[in-house]
Amino acid sequence: MKRIFSGIKPTGHLTLGNYLGALRRWVELDQHQADALFSVVDLHALTVDHDPARVRRLSRQAVTLMLAAGLDPDLCTVFVQSQVDEHARLSYVLECTATDGELRRMIQYKEKSAQARAAGQSVRLSLLTYPVLMAADILAYGTDEVPVGADQTQHVELSRDLAVRFNQRYGHTFTVPRATHPPVAARVMDLQDPMSKMGKSHESPAGIVYLLDDADQVRKKVMRAVTDSGREVEYDRERSPGVANLLEILSACSEGNPIELAGVYESYGALKRDTAEAVVELLRPVRERHAELAADGGFVDEVLRKGAERARGMARPRVDAAYAAIGL
Ligand code: ADP
Repeated sequence: MKRIFSGIKPTGHLTLGNYLGALRRWVELDQHQADALFSVVDLHALTVDHDPARVRRLSRQAVTLMLAAGLDPDLCTVFVQSQVDEHARLSYVLECTATDGELRRMIQYKEKSAQARAAGQSVRLSLLTYPVLMAADILAYGTDEVPVGADQTQHVELSRDLAVRFNQRYGHTFTVPRATHPPVAARVMDLQDPMSKMGKSHESPAGIVYLLDDADQVRKKVMRAVTDSGREVEYDRERSPGVANLLEILSACSEGNPIELAGVYESYGALKRDTAEAVVELLRPVRERHAELAADGGFVDEVLRKGAERARGMARPRVDAAYAAIGL
């Protein structure tokens, strides 16, 4: 059976981008067709300035939301990364397989390190090396497929390169994984700044729909989305990125592709109203189930305990094999 691994960082509240780009497909497709592991990758939340109590709180909330969205612990493995030592253990060995040049070329490193420096902050070494930890997350499980949004393509490429290189030098140890993307909304953009992706760690929440936003908050954010100076509703990511983003979100929530939907609307207002309502309906059951699960922590505790145990059992033999292969 095919093996799938994917994760979410607890660096902020989960967004509509996380849901449409990743989580929804894990629920609807991946957990049914593969032996799938889904992790809250909390070690990755330490690469930038962080508050320990907040990371812990957000980790718990992310797990609860993943279950609320429909991940079924009887079908897949849900766990928190730091509870499985194999990730950090393998990461070091892979660091000895990677070069600093290939990590400095990562777009996210370039962007995030530039932001930190512009704000007068120092750049943590882990910001540079985190794609290697991500490769360890993936390779530890013999993963075939990594379902992610388009923003993660370059990191999955690095995982492939490291797997191939390690196998060539030290003998076949790792499966070479590949990224898979959702057919629409692989890149949900910020509603206030449609040139950048909707990311949970952005400073300003006005352009970000959070999964736990209530109906009024969703409506307000969508109705205030930046469009363009034109009038016509057209699907053109270059010329009308704001409108294209709304069309993709609506398309991902309903039937119909973005181009067909563009033909249906004569005004931005009507498009925004329908998009807002579609998002409200999409998120309603997730919010309701989240409230139930959050009220009864015992279920989540048990899922995490079993998930970590199962993940450890799956990762350990391969990580041991990598240690032996590299000469330890
Ligand atoms: P974030 O950028 O919100 O911190 P993560 O790095 O935790 O997200 O990614 C979790 C998953 O959500 C990844 O598969 C990522 O590709 C996907 N994802 C994150 N933001 C978006 C977005 N705006 N559009 C589509 N997918 C996204």
